Amino acid sequence: QGLQFNKLSSHTAAEEIIKVFDLNYMTMNRLENKVAIITGAASGIGLATAKLFHQHGAIVIAADIQEELLKEELTSLQDSGKIKTEKLDVSLEENWYRLVTDTIESFGRIDILINNAAIHSADAGILGTTLDSWNKLMSINSTGVFLGTKAVLPYLQKNGGGSIVNVASIAALVGGMNADAGAAAYSASKGSVRSLSRHTAQHFAKDKIRCNSIYPGGVLTPMMLKGLRDGGFSEEQVSGTGPIPLPPYVAEAIDIAYGILYLASDEAKYVTGAELVIDGGFVSQ
Ligand code: NAD
Repeated sequence: QGLQFNKLSSHTAAEEIIKVFDLNYMTMNRLENKVAIITGAASGIGLATAKLFHQHGAIVIAADIQEELLKEELTSLQDSGKIKTEKLDVSLEENWYRLVTDTIESFGRIDILINNAAIHSADAGILGTTLDSWNKLMSINSTGVFLGTKAVLPYLQKNGGGSIVNVASIAALVGGMNADAGAAAYSASKGSVRSLSRHTAQHFAKDKIRCNSIYPGGVLTPMMLKGLRDGGFSEEQVSGTGPIPLPPYVAEAIDIAYGILYLASDEAKYVTGAELVIDGGFVSQ
């Protein structure tokens, strides 16, 4: 599979090129019948991703700890038979094994895993963070990604390949986010997501399993709004001009979902270990 230089003149390679650049292929059904698990799908970026994946033909297993909200948000799409909602606490290993078993029973395969669920915290830096609070955040943001990856990998191997996208944060890349009072544990957890993504990419490339990570800046979601309130900031203070070069200075969830769609899809078939920053130019200043 894939383009090879010595075959570029062959009919097969030409067809491959046409397929890759065909407009319909690029804009519609970019995930036709791929089975995708998305965590944290009841809200914000996960919800936008679940809807976008559904629009592009995927079979979506939308998982979240907030079961009622999940059902409420995705009810209108469930008639399609291509969205299944599942209660999942990403920090509990047995929850993961139930989820993958259910998915295999229902759909026979798993192609894509989006590790997106996470929490923020209102702790005031290292000195204001208790061990309990640190451990709780790590169990979701860091251990949750490890557990999900571990549970799904054997099925991707059986499939002969697959794609994992881990949602990190620019908090993994910069230490001085002054507006972000809880950033100590959160930044460390997202740093671990970055390292685990690189590790997964390197060790499973031989199985044609790709693993990439995404680094959103500020995204208007319930998580961000809560973080602002906790830090004593207003929405206007972030969405006005500021340290972010690109207007409108704050992202919508769909801006991140499009990045996830690309990395999950076959359009990114040669992309692994990549780190996609979607932050309006903030960290590149
Ligand atoms: P959000 O709070 O709107 O959504 C997060 C979802 O995760 C919620 O539905 C929540 O119920 C779920 N969740 C929390 N704990 C869980 C658990 N233990 N098991 C399963 N689900 C759980 O937040 P969001 O802004 O959409 O965040 C999505 C991802 O994007 C997170 O990884 C977050 O760290 C990252 N991110 C967000 C921003 C931002 O500004 N919003 C910036 C950078 C990175």
